Amino acid sequence: MRFHILTLFPEMVLQGLSTSILGRAREKGLLSFDAVNIRDFTQDKHGRVDDYPYGGGAGMLMQAQPVYDAWRSAVSGCASDRPVRVIYLTPQGKVFDQKLARELAQEEELVFVCGHYEGVDERVLEEIVTDRVSIGDYVLTGGELAAMVMIDAISRMVPGVLNNGESGETESFHENLLEYPQYTRPELWRGRRVPPVLLSGDHAKVDAWRLEQSVERTKRWRPDLYEGYDLPGRALAYLLRDRLFHMDMIEDIRRGQAEVLTVREDGVIIRDVPTGICMITAETKDAGERLLSCVGTETEVFACHQDFVMESVAARFRKSCVNECFQAVYTRRQPFPEEELCGIRPLTEAGLEPVSAYDDLYARKELRAALRGGAVFGAFVPKESVSPQEEDAALRKERVLPPERCVGLIGTHEEGGMGFLHVLEPYRRRGIAAALEKFLINRTLEKGWTPYGQIFPENEASLRLQEKLGLKLCKRRIYWIS
Ligand code: SAM
Repeated sequence: MRFHILTLFPEMVLQGLSTSILGRAREKGLLSFDAVNIRDFTQDKHGRVDDYPYGGGAGMLMQAQPVYDAWRSAVSGCASDRPVRVIYLTPQGKVFDQKLARELAQEEELVFVCGHYEGVDERVLEEIVTDRVSIGDYVLTGGELAAMVMIDAISRMVPGVLNNGESGETESFHENLLEYPQYTRPELWRGRRVPPVLLSGDHAKVDAWRLEQSVERTKRWRPDLYEGYDLPGRALAYLLRDRLFHMDMIEDIRRGQAEVLTVREDGVIIRDVPTGICMITAETKDAGERLLSCVGTETEVFACHQDFVMESVAARFRKSCVNECFQAVYTRRQPFPEEELCGIRPLTEAGLEPVSAYDDLYARKELRAALRGGAVFGAFVPKESVSPQEEDAALRKERVLPPERCVGLIGTHEEGGMGFLHVLEPYRRRGIAAALEKFLINRTLEKGWTPYGQIFPENEASLRLQEKLGLKLCKRRIYWIS
């Protein structure tokens, strides 16, 4: 990897980068440092590169022209066929971190612009700079040390620079954790022993101890970093404390379709990626408010596990349409025996559209999305088995009756719950709804998922059906607000 450093002090930069690991990597040809002296490009006969700022104020400013010409000279020697990123070191930039180091290490060449005095004429920065980066919230006298800090951290990510390829993987900041404590010989120093587990020779135990130490010290010393550590795992640990009530959120995470936004000691918020729906649970109104602060106004639908969270959403996002549900979960693992009561097959949009009895359902965009995703199943009966009296008026209006008739349906909502259960009036009380739900439970279990659904409290028939099929009902309400 090649670094071009535009600076007034090339010797400072080259000295700093020529020792130890970076020096060796340079000798091996893995890294190269090209320090470009900005002063070599001045057109001033006295060799000046700075001048007073327009409008007055303390200090001097580096002029645009020498910086621009130094940059042109550096990039003219670049081998890369795509534009080379140009980093201006400035306390006003994005704060440098391990993630950015990893990203920049993917580049073949980088240009660094080191400011000095009060900084650099803004026009040349606008002209050439792609990234403005700071190494922390303090002001240095020049960009050289900042460039060296960045180059050091980036170089360590370049393959071959570190002898032990693993070190980059287990060090601090990997997966948002600080590194565990390390010890070397002697075993006993000033009365302090090396933790016995490290001498046990049991690698599994050593790994477990190190992870525990990393988690503990990150929690204690860098709670800001810890917030980003293993979000799905920590969210699940919280949600599993009340499994029935949180099964919608648990399944969304387990099925790999959730983005876990924030996990706190007193609540969790996730976003279902396919639909953008936000699901949230919190112990207090204040916790709910804090969780909601990470959500943008573009979110259209929220599933809130508490009424006070729903009220916060209503006030904060101006939502007013609320639906309350109970959640039912099939906690057993065994599938139901397959039944012959009716044919159950995937239903397409074309298959459902002509059935005018389903017009109300079809108007729902979630059903159309589920149909397109192949997540809806229809119950079909041969048309002979239906007496004309039993046919509802809407069905009779169809000119060409298919050999089979779709008399009921069930499906999986995009965010994961079973739903849309509906059986046409003349075909009710024959066990078709139960057959449909058993069928869907079996398909859900086949995928290794836990079947669950949400039911309006006033839908007594559905509540009875869940009980009959052995689903466990959680009588705490979930509030959908949109
Ligand atoms: N007047 C500038 C301001 O307030 O933003 C600060 C200029 S500073 C004295 C001189 C140069 O040091 C800057 O142009 C920049 O290149 C470098 N520098 C200072 N602090 C830095 C930091 N925290 N990170 C990166 N570069 C820094």
